[in-house]
Amino acid sequence: MLAFVIAIDGEAGSGKSTLARAISQDLNWPYLSTGLMYRAAALVALQNGLGPEHAAGLAERISKSAIVAEGDSITLSGVDVTSELRSAEVNGAVSHFAALPEVRESLLGLQRVWVDAKSVISDGVVVEGRDIGTVVCPSAQLKLYLTADAKVRGERRPEEGTSSLLARDVRDSERELSPLVAAEDAVVLDTTNRDVSELLAEVRAMIDERMGTPVATESTSEKVEVAVPDAKPTRYEIREAKRWELFMYSVVRTVVALINRTYFGLRLKKEADLPTGPFVLAPIHRSNIDTMIVASITRRRLRYMGKEAVFKFPLLGDFLVALGGIPLNRDSADRDAVRRSVEALQTGEPLVIFPEGQRRSGDLVKDLHEGAAYLALRAGVPVVPVGIAGTERIWRKGGKFPIPGRSFMISGPPIYPKQSTRQSSSSGRAKAVPRRAVSEMTAELNAELQRLYELATEELKNRTK
Ligand code: C5P
Repeated sequence: MLAFVIAIDGEAGSGKSTLARAISQDLNWPYLSTGLMYRAAALVALQNGLGPEHAAGLAERISKSAIVAEGDSITLSGVDVTSELRSAEVNGAVSHFAALPEVRESLLGLQRVWVDAKSVISDGVVVEGRDIGTVVCPSAQLKLYLTADAKVRGERRPEEGTSSLLARDVRDSERELSPLVAAEDAVVLDTTNRDVSELLAEVRAMIDERMGTPVATESTSEKVEVAVPDAKPTRYEIREAKRWELFMYSVVRTVVALINRTYFGLRLKKEADLPTGPFVLAPIHRSNIDTMIVASITRRRLRYMGKEAVFKFPLLGDFLVALGGIPLNRDSADRDAVRRSVEALQTGEPLVIFPEGQRRSGDLVKDLHEGAAYLALRAGVPVVPVGIAGTERIWRKGGKFPIPGRSFMISGPPIYPKQSTRQSSSSGRAKAVPRRAVSEMTAELNAELQRLYELATEELKNRTK
């Protein structure tokens, strides 16, 4: 089933987040406050001394700081910054930064990924902000536009004060890109003299009415990619790791890392720190043992995809799921793979994808599959290229066993999605990833993998001398 999307827009202090929270609690649907995301972006700017004139640099900073929003809270690179987002400084700055196309594009990508991912695990989602009904979710099944008297709105935000709040409204309404405006098909609700339970009851009635006759909208076709209409919740569904699973992973990983170091003679080098949030780990693939080898790169749980058939074995299947394995059904591969990968990244964990697809041989890295880049762009996370040398000899194609040997692994600096290729935000289509961005990122990944592979080979030679 497709998720029911409720888009709530309106002026500052009109009660958007109060209503969004109430609906979310009542129906147990996840909700997103996009205002908090813009506030987090402003905080990033302030923390880094960047002004609106540094838009491009700021967009890059934003993509590096892994803004993760959930209901009322926001983390930046894993750190909860919610309490800092309503400071006078942020209040004063946010709408200036929110007017920058670069900033809006970065956050729009994250917002759509959030909606896509939550739509698969919930019957409905609630998204609140200034441009939700018009730009972020133009095909939402229910659009609400909240207003209230300026005086009342000011009273609702005493810490900000009426004049700052109204100034923000003017800037938000008058900006060129995605201004605050009611969508044509939005229901306007004046919240001046209404309490939240009354509003909730009214909204619940609208939801019930519309859910009875689901409207076929633009999003129906656009979301097909990530929403599986007849998907039954199974034990394979992506969810956050349980503590015992992480513990088990760390035990298995310790053993694997020991084997890597001793039997496979693995040494490793990192040219840069790995991102602390989610990322796509994209290694060279020359041997069956590469999957084991990459586990040495971080203590964090890495998620892998594998053939569904393997997961069907009793016990082994459960074990692999617990270790973070993601079963892939080859028949419906693409759709499932994208959905599950985005979900896996949404849980904040790194995901391993071999961009060469299958084991290759030879010195050249070429003809990469575009999946790694596509996913990274889609989920708004970086790709970390990894060169591995020596494994081809340890376990040759066709060999029965791995033989003891030496290997070397180097990870390169993360490649961050560039937001320079404009999305068609004006047309409001929910289609996110431009083809050109995917090819460009894949080309960059290819060059990096080639460089790292050569470097790893060189390091290995020096060691064996
Ligand atoms: O909702 P909140 O008042 O926290 O939003 C803070 C600011 O973020 C707004 O004044 C606006 O400038 C910006 N914003 C936006 N688009 C959204 C949500 C918020 O431009 N969808």
